[in-house]
Amino acid sequence: MSTADDAPKSNFLRQIIDADLESGRHSQVVTRFPPEPNGYLHIGHAKSICLNFGLARDFGGVCHLRMDDTNPETEEAEYIAGIERDVRWLGFEWGDKLFHASDFFEEMYAFAEHLVRAGEAYVDHLDADAISDYRGTLREAGRPSPYRERSVDENLDLLRRMRAGEFADGTCVLRAKGDLASPNMKMRDPLLYRIRKASHPRTGDTWCIYPMYDYAHPLEDALEGVTHSICTLEFENNREIYDWVLEHTPAPARPRQYEFARLNITYTVLSKRKLLQLVGEGHVAGWDDPRMPTLAGMRRRGYTPEAIRTFCEAVGVTKTNSRVDMERLEGCLRDDLNHRAPRLMAVLDPIEIELVNRPEGEVTPLEAASFPDDVGKPGSRTVPLGRRVFIERSDFSEAPPKGWRRLSPGGAVRLRYGPIVRCEAVVKDADGVITGLRCVVDDDARANGTLHWVPAEAAVRAEVRLYDRLFSVEKPDQDPAGRDPLTFLNPTSLVVVKDARLEPAAALVTPATHVQFERNGYYVTDCVDSRADALVFNRAVTLRDSWARKVETTDEEAAAPVAKKADTRPQKKTRAQVREEARARDAELAARLTRYRDVLGLDESDADVLTGDRATGDLFEAALAAYADVPSVTRWVVNEVLAAAKDAPVDSLPLTGEALGALARMVDENVLSNSAAKEVFAELVERGGDPAEITKRRGLRQVSDADAIETIIAEVLAAHPDEVARYREGNQGLLGFFMGQVMRRSGGKANPGLTRRLLQKALAG
Ligand code: ATP
Ligand code: MG
Repeated sequence: MSTADDAPKSNFLRQIIDADLESGRHSQVVTRFPPEPNGYLHIGHAKSICLNFGLARDFGGVCHLRMDDTNPETEEAEYIAGIERDVRWLGFEWGDKLFHASDFFEEMYAFAEHLVRAGEAYVDHLDADAISDYRGTLREAGRPSPYRERSVDENLDLLRRMRAGEFADGTCVLRAKGDLASPNMKMRDPLLYRIRKASHPRTGDTWCIYPMYDYAHPLEDALEGVTHSICTLEFENNREIYDWVLEHTPAPARPRQYEFARLNITYTVLSKRKLLQLVGEGHVAGWDDPRMPTLAGMRRRGYTPEAIRTFCEAVGVTKTNSRVDMERLEGCLRDDLNHRAPRLMAVLDPIEIELVNRPEGEVTPLEAASFPDDVGKPGSRTVPLGRRVFIERSDFSEAPPKGWRRLSPGGAVRLRYGPIVRCEAVVKDADGVITGLRCVVDDDARANGTLHWVPAEAAVRAEVRLYDRLFSVEKPDQDPAGRDPLTFLNPTSLVVVKDARLEPAAALVTPATHVQFERNGYYVTDCVDSRADALVFNRAVTLRDSWARKVETTDEEAAAPVAKKADTRPQKKTRAQVREEARARDAELAARLTRYRDVLGLDESDADVLTGDRATGDLFEAALAAYADVPSVTRWVVNEVLAAAKDAPVDSLPLTGEALGALARMVDENVLSNSAAKEVFAELVERGGDPAEITKRRGLRQVSDADAIETIIAEVLAAHPDEVARYREGNQGLLGFFMGQVMRRSGGKANPGLTRRLLQKALAG
């Protein structure tokens, strides 16, 4: 298949497939990507696409594209076209393997009659609230619906009349006879069909009953011949129904469902519902707004399919949910564009320099390479130097701070690819605003830095859209106080520069071509608004990670927020290089890398950061000795401990591995909520100690007692009758408000998952 170097990383799914092929359980792998066409695909879907199509490719199988169109009301042809386009753009092909769930409605219905005849399903007339009530709670078994023991004949007659349209929406449903005492609530007589008198984009008015996801999905898989049905972790509890349906119907095959962790990324949201809200309420310009994490938005922003595929491969496939740093995604894009994007100079906030010792009208063509030497790609352009040039306003300072490596009165800099210029005078208007500089060309002066510039006479004008992260906090959808993600929209996620000046070669940039504006960032022409005579460039990503730099800004950078560091200085080693060198020196670290990855099953990148020095791995292993849950301990060390230690060695913290393990266990056992755990962790990092003692002293033990939470909920609802009424009239967005209230009254100690469920129940009335 592949050589050791480019072999895909192993993961638990590859191991399962290997075993299935080896045992002869399957001779060919068939996977599928099953989007519901009710929105545009986002980067989370890309992970699923790369996984499913990638497995099929690597094992010589096929991957189907399936429109999961069982819900006629929310689906639109626009979304279907968008999905097909995005999957192709990512680089995957499905050939003739395009399916729709609706292709199988007839078979699914026949299987439903089969279930009824076998006494395994019944028509229920309870309404939604009653069904949920009869279902019981985690502590109490469900009660049988009064309609559960109808005769087969009666059920068959009712099901046929449901199909024939005799009943109104919501009057009855078809349910499986599951297990009303099952600890898995989903197995307590799951719904199979509901009535929806809505026209379907493909089947029109043929149907007025539509299968539920849990019933339709396993059958579609079986009917298409899918072998491995891969979905995200939140469907773990649905697997039991998946298997039940396949075991109780004459389905032609026996696919298996496997779950992996969905992708989450910092500074964004990846839920179609929230993305739809951003579009619907006009917080962004559309699904393809370059700030959106949709593939359409990312494409317009300047992301390449290669960068996205590399990213998906690098984050790997795991069984534990976590949030990946946006920086990693941006890093993949920078790496890709570095080799792809020819360099250009652009000045976004120009200030004009007159080179007083150059004759008026004389133009010197300067040759400028399209790529720096280390990229090793040919090509060049010509930059015509005349008497006037623009530089970035932020590259000049009248009162430069110490260490300033740009232009200042009396100082000299090199114009990139050109001469050294020395500043002789500053020109100001009546208000004292600098309107220009007078400089002399002086190749004997000592250059204090190199600046990018643009020839003033020959400059091309363009609009430049500076895109930044859409949200200004890492977890906009996980506010401990339950506030709406919209609260955290980044007000400067788009800054438009109307009149930037670019070197003349910019006029030759063809649509959808990437360029690097030197010392600034990577850009692409906007595929919607850019025209040959009115160029619009979108910033895909800054040259270096400007968010990380916000934390460690030096005086120099604080003084010049727009332009980035001159790229002529020697670069510091990256942390990844430092870790790699440490492993090259220390065989124990190298051995740990292999062991963590191959024996403990860690993601490549987690194994890497844990083995850059001995102290980190020692702490990790001590924590594991105290609590042997690898994913959980890994998450704590990688996400929390390393962040808390910053660049210092982790053994400079008073925190012990034993305490960390104990803390991780308390969270997993629901003794501590995530936010309370952060508090305990903060103290451990500050002072060390025993997490159980800290929890007790600070009164942080999580309340997971339903009665206690229900009491608080009742108080909150009583205190906010208007909000309750508005919620019940359909303003479901208020759930966050109620969550916030309950969490506050509980001192942040209520178990959020449980609270949300209880709240929804209480609010339903
Ligand atoms: P959302 O929860 O945002 O509404 P969804 O899961 O309902 O998304 P689908 O169209 O049903 O959206 O998803 C198609 C496939 O993509 C499913 O197999 C789903 O598990 C997968 N998927 C969706 N979001 C992610 C994600 N963030 N990471 C990985 N896979 C995802
Ligand atoms: Mg879904």
